[in-house]
This record gives sequence, structure tokens and C-alpha cells, in this order.
Amino acid sequence: MDAIFFIGILSLCIVSIQNKMLTPDGGIAAFFTGLFIFLSFQWQGLVILGLFFLTSSLLTKWKKNVKRDPDAVNSEYVKGRNARQVFANGGTASLAAAGQLIHPDPVWFIMYAAAFATATADTWASEIGVLSKRRPFHLKEWRKVERGLSGAVSTLGTFAAILGASVIGLSYQLLYEPVALTIIITIITAGFLGNFADTLIGAWLEQKFYCSICKRETEEIVHCHSKTVKIFGYSWATNNFVNFSATIVGALIAGGTYIWIIK
Ligand SMILES: [Zn+2]
Repeated sequence: MDAIFFIGILSLCIVSIQNKMLTPDGGIAAFFTGLFIFLSFQWQGLVILGLFFLTSSLLTKWKKNVKRDPDAVNSEYVKGRNARQVFANGGTASLAAAGQLIHPDPVWFIMYAAAFATATADTWASEIGVLSKRRPFHLKEWRKVERGLSGAVSTLGTFAAILGASVIGLSYQLLYEPVALTIIITIITAGFLGNFADTLIGAWLEQKFYCSICKRETEEIVHCHSKTVKIFGYSWATNNFVNFSATIVGALIAGGTYIWIIK
């Protein structure tokens, strides 16, 4: 029985590389993430991982010609997600999987679900929010900015985040029946708050660059075929760091709520 899942994970990773949803090193990272999650959280864990991965990949491809900045060299749109991006989104869930293997406890299940609720909320907010007709509002600069910049929020993106977190929370309910309603609400809320933490970290710490050719702010190191100038942020605060931190925040909020309030 386990062999079927092993082949299933492997096949999905190979197909994802062929469809340029993952780079080859991203595919290898995704394979081990999947295997690890299956060992700790069984097939239900794989369904949650798959929900995050498939919806995120499809949303990234959806209307990509409208969303993609033609002046940016953005690997996610062109080549698929690489190993660093896989760890940024799936690393916290893998840590929860390690926790479950070392010291089994229901709290690890809630934490991995909250990590994926955060990652899903974040990706949905970015990929759907960028299509907003109105320009997003930047929380730190307190003004409207270019679409697609970290640290900015839009109404459309916020609804997308709530929807993304809810899809993971409700799937958890269907997969692990019977689950107390408080746990589902905890996972959804933690996912939304984790996504909000992503916006805050993105606004206050993440690196931003300026392109002297098109005179725009960007998150790209190379824009309009020339190197951009860093205008803000810490060099360690990359987009992957921000995503990983957000999933940690989401998982800790859910785990803390379970241990101190629900249990
Ligand atoms: Zn430019």
C-alpha cells in the first residue's frame, strides 16, 4: 500500500518538472517533503500538501501573461518553483513532520495544517490580489504602491487569503473526521494571521530594489536587463525567508492555541 503512495509522489514530482511547475532541484525537494509528510501525517497529509501545491501552481500559471512583469526575470513564472521556494513553503510542515516522528502528538497535525493554510493564503493572496484593478496599499509607507510588491494589501488579496486558508481548514475537517470546530477555526485563523505576518515582515524587513531604467520599485535583482539598486531592507530578508517565517508564525499560533486554550 505504501509503495503506491511512494510511486504517486514520485510521478507527481516528475509531471510537475515536465510542466515547469517545479525546477529539477525543486522536484527533488518536493519529493522528500511529500515522503516525510506521508510518513508522519499519512495520505491525508499528502492531500493537504497537494491542495496547496496544485492550486498555487495553477494560480501562478493563471493569467500569467497579465500578471508577469515582462521586464522582470522571474523564475517562478518561467522555470517553476525551485528547491529554496519549496522549503520556504513546505519547510515548516516538514519540521512538524519531524516532531511527529520523534514525539507523536496531535499538536503536530494542527501545526502542519496551519503551515499549509498560511502558505496557501499567502500564494492565493499574491496570485489573485495582483489582478486587483485598484493599486494595493502599503502598510509601512502608508500609501498606494505598484501591484505585486510585498507589504501591500488589497481587498481582493485579503478575500483570497481568507478563502485559501478556509480551503485547507475545511479539507482538514473532511480528511480527519471528526474534528472539533474550534480546531478548524484555529487552523483557518492561524493561516490568515500567518499571511498577515507575511505582509508585515514583507513591509518592514524585506529587501526592495529600484530600477533606474523604468524608474520603478521592484523585488528583482535584475530588471529591464540591468542590475537594480537596493533601496531598502536586510539582505537576509529574501522573499523565501519571509514566506518561511510566515508559515512558522501560522504554525506557532495554531500550536499555541491548541496547547493553551483548546486542550
Ligand atoms: Zn525596470
